[in-house]
Amino acid sequence: MTIYNLGSINIDKVLRVPHLPSPGETLAARSYAEGLGGKGANQSVAAARAGAQVVHLGAIGPDGGAMLDLLARDGVATDRIARLPVPTGMALIMVDDAAENTIAILAGANREIPQDGVTAALEGARRGDTLLLQNETGGQVAAAEQARSRGMRVVVSAAPFDMAALAPLLPLLSVLLLNEVEAAQLEQAAGRSLAALALPHVVVTRGARGATHLDGGTGESTTYPAFRVAPVDTTGAGDTFAGYLAAGLDQGLDWSRALPRAQAAAALSVTRAGAAASIPGAAETAEFLA
Ligand code: ADP
Repeated sequence: MTIYNLGSINIDKVLRVPHLPSPGETLAARSYAEGLGGKGANQSVAAARAGAQVVHLGAIGPDGGAMLDLLARDGVATDRIARLPVPTGMALIMVDDAAENTIAILAGANREIPQDGVTAALEGARRGDTLLLQNETGGQVAAAEQARSRGMRVVVSAAPFDMAALAPLLPLLSVLLLNEVEAAQLEQAAGRSLAALALPHVVVTRGARGATHLDGGTGESTTYPAFRVAPVDTTGAGDTFAGYLAAGLDQGLDWSRALPRAQAAAALSVTRAGAAASIPGAAETAEFLA
């Protein structure tokens, strides 16, 4: 089957600095690097590396061509990504010698994805295909409504958390992915427990403490322990998990297999620096699981 991912694409612009500058301070950076980022792009790469067929729905500006090349190199279909006369989304990142960082994000083209392009792409989707969403683009609700009417699975990663954006998706989604902080934010904003929201499936990731699957159908809650690794950089762990989980469900794995595989991939990703660059492939993940 196919995963359609309506997701952000950012150019990550990373300056290494001796320390984070104070307000008004100017300092010399040690190095500069550019890479592919954005929760959407990271999740597309993760799902593709997990072996899924992925069509990325999104937008870039004139400066984003290299990001498309990076997505395409992982086998992600990029022909539905619009090219707009506005800047590509970007994350300006400074990382100091103690691995502390500051990040500012410009949404750019990510908030201007033309709806008609998304609609046209989803018209090609089949029953059982997956729509994957995060909260760094516009147009999620219309896409989720269309996906539901076509019998697609709708997987929503609720990051960055915003109740106003998430609320209209709650009646439309098949699977909701949250980390612990987002789960607490949702319970507070809704004034109810996750279980009381009666969603079909909810997965709460708990970092080194694993992930809990709440099955709304049976009412069962199952916690899967995380794999023990020495963390180097946890950036992108949640996106690796989300992409792998969406891929596993798309590939027909049941939860008891899809969840451990997503956690294995996420554990491997935290042992390496970088976001998209640190996502393991299917073979490496299978070997780690064995
Ligand atoms: P987010 O990055 O969205 O905050 P989490 O921190 O909950 O999400 O991490 C997502 C998943 O990544 C976890 O469920 C776990 O499987 C894996 N993970 C994250 N941190 C670690 C860690 N230190 N050791 C092992 N696995 C980890």
